[in-house]
Amino acid sequence: MTAAALRRRVTVLGSTGSVGRSTLELMAEAEAAGSGRFQVVALTGGGNVARLIEQARRWRPEVAVIADDRRFAELRDGLAGTGIAVAAGDDAVVEAAQRPADFLLAAIVGAAGLRSTWAAAGTGVVLGLANKESLVCCGPQLLARVRQSGGRLIPVDSEHSAIFQVFPADAPASVSRLVLTASGGPFRALSREQMAAITPEQAVAHPNWSMGAKISVDSATMANKGLETIEAAYLFDTPGDRIDVVVHPESIIHSLVEYIDGSTLAQLGPPDMKTPIACALAWPDRMAWPAPRLDLAALGRLTFEQPDLERFPALALARQSLAQGGWAPTVFNAANEVAALAFLDRRLSFLNIAAVVAETLERAANKGFGSGSGDACETALAVDRGARGLAGSVIADLAVAA
Ligand code: NAD
Ligand code: MG
Repeated sequence: MTAAALRRRVTVLGSTGSVGRSTLELMAEAEAAGSGRFQVVALTGGGNVARLIEQARRWRPEVAVIADDRRFAELRDGLAGTGIAVAAGDDAVVEAAQRPADFLLAAIVGAAGLRSTWAAAGTGVVLGLANKESLVCCGPQLLARVRQSGGRLIPVDSEHSAIFQVFPADAPASVSRLVLTASGGPFRALSREQMAAITPEQAVAHPNWSMGAKISVDSATMANKGLETIEAAYLFDTPGDRIDVVVHPESIIHSLVEYIDGSTLAQLGPPDMKTPIACALAWPDRMAWPAPRLDLAALGRLTFEQPDLERFPALALARQSLAQGGWAPTVFNAANEVAALAFLDRRLSFLNIAAVVAETLERAANKGFGSGSGDACETALAVDRGARGLAGSVIADLAVAA
């Protein structure tokens, strides 16, 4: 029996990045297999105009948008004569996010994705969310907005996709605990002394997943698992003290849900982002694609260990910000983003990433960020800006002290 091909009108925000490219590749593979037919509404990129042009020529979206407006002429010239509308700048990305579509993948990295994710959340679209930072910045309000608009948010982060697939949405009281798995990143076995000399090149070389630079650094510091703990708390309305993290270096079990009767359900698969993307894209159906298959006998064994919060303090700081509540997770996210980028720019050592986050959270505590007017997205952006300023001054103070 062959299922009818899935049909979707799709927008991809951040199409030139790692998740964005995987999404378009997956769509091409499903079309080739006869399991999907896709019409692309909008594609947006940050600065890689050559890749955006190539993608637009292949997918023929209604509109292609480059966020960096200095690249507008290149985009216009590259798509001249194709009939594809072109635009540039942050507002154009937000407008693209509001075009009618069946499915929108939010795959911009960092708080830069918040405005467009927020805009999409108001349209009633099925929102596939990879941009975890927008949820961390403004989660409860973002989820409320999706509900009010009649849309759905389907997580694309692999751990949350796993939980989403085994979580009893109609009986949340039957869940006792969520367990997020973590690969432990490339430095799982290093001592703090050994971590002192880590370079950006070493940090972006992840053993299991091929990802953008910022999330690779987050994975190396385990700030990523901290962001994901906050993400899970909001998505599944579960307090932080009922969300555990277990290190599982093979990245085969993507996360687990423990029920009150002692059953634990998990979702498994080879580590490939196309599977959680396919799950969101096809939801509530399933879509065939040439997925790598799980071969447990070939794997032989799966291993687990406790995360070490001494060596990976960013995870503890994220949990602390979640427990503190209010806009503290937004501050955590902003400080982490500034520190991770400073590390990638060689302006900050690896160990000082968490130090900057800790100090920024402390300095932010009495600042009253988030007390202004405006909608929750604008407030979150104001908190984000304030926290970025603080994190920048913490980094400057560290440079003076060194
Ligand atoms: P990436 O750096 O490879 O791609 C990011 C995309 O965002 C690119 O298209 C880039 O051009 C665009 N972008 C960057 N800055 C922008 C700006 N200021 N305005 C508009 N667009 C901008 O990142 P990625 O690895 O694809 O990650 C994307 C998101 O998905 C992140 O939030 C990440 O945490 C999350 N995620 C990624 C993976 C993964 O395997 N890569 C897994 C889970 C979750
Ligand atoms: Mg993840």
